[in-house]
Amino acid sequence: MVMLLLLAVVPGTVLADDAAMEAIGAKAATVAMDRLGATQGDENLLAMTDASTAMTGNQTTERCLSGVTAVSGCTIGDGNLLIPQRSKFAPLWFMFYKKDTGEAVFLQVNESAAARPAAAIRTMPAGEVFGPIAKAQISARHLLENQSAWTTLLEKKTFAGNEFSLITIANMWADPTTPYDFLRAASFHNHLCPGVTSGYLISHYVEERLPIEAPTQSYKVIACPVWCKDDLFPIVWDATPGKRSFFVKDLSAVEKAALKKNLGTDVAGIYVRWDAATKTGDGMVVGYNWTRSNELTGTADWDGNPLLAKLVMDLELIEYTDKPEAVVSTLKEFRCESPEEFSTLTYAGVNPLKVLGVEA
Ligand SMILES: [Zn+2]
Repeated sequence: MVMLLLLAVVPGTVLADDAAMEAIGAKAATVAMDRLGATQGDENLLAMTDASTAMTGNQTTERCLSGVTAVSGCTIGDGNLLIPQRSKFAPLWFMFYKKDTGEAVFLQVNESAAARPAAAIRTMPAGEVFGPIAKAQISARHLLENQSAWTTLLEKKTFAGNEFSLITIANMWADPTTPYDFLRAASFHNHLCPGVTSGYLISHYVEERLPIEAPTQSYKVIACPVWCKDDLFPIVWDATPGKRSFFVKDLSAVEKAALKKNLGTDVAGIYVRWDAATKTGDGMVVGYNWTRSNELTGTADWDGNPLLAKLVMDLELIEYTDKPEAVVSTLKEFRCESPEEFSTLTYAGVNPLKVLGVEA
């Protein structure tokens, strides 16, 4: 009985804050859609926010998503509500992008406004709830034709420092051929760069050569060396450090250069298809050829803004999902006959490439 009474009181206090969060999400959508000329359910509209990852004070912010969805119609199920990963300490923001016009509106929440009750948030002027509110043309085509517009956005921090992150992900979303698992990995990585795309191509390459054929099989990854690609595998393969299916081992710049010189490609990492039933694994050391990657995407002799080259590479490289061998290669194949044998590759202080005989 005491328990029931406590429960009756506590949800009430939580609901008050949640209603404020919902009002913030709804207001962000209302203001942005008004400025973009968008209507509810507009198939050209994308909503992005760090709500649910960022916190305001001690308050979690997931209820903002309900407000965004109620007004805009954007949902996770429709693939038009993306949540790029941020720290809990990051400011709370929203961005809405209309792919047919290429225009986006960004709104960052004033922390003082987030502490107000829902009713106040609904009636407050937008400029008091959000600051800054920025509108910009961000379509890849426009930015490639007007490179100064791109550098201005970045230099002026038009989206409060989120420009690269949001512009890359929004443009990839706008391309109807971009798969959702890729957008999810990019969202987890916080931004989209050719590094994540290289991880996507590597994952398809490994899946083709070492396919998962039984429920007892799963992939283990030894990221050696480390780059942005490695944020993809926890998302698409559920390979995570805590479950000992993801090991991170970086190499020095000197080691990487020496390996590249010897092997003619960049070493990307070690990928093992592990079978929990037989306690054995089939592995590959995989290379990713960045030189070839630049050639294929026309960014080898890029003299414009280097971050814009990354956007170009993102848009071009994804086309190689079904032919990853254009840039991905096998440097070595091996077997692990026991868990102990696999573990020798993963311990601290061990260079697993040397153990496997892949050396400069
Ligand atoms: Zn990156």
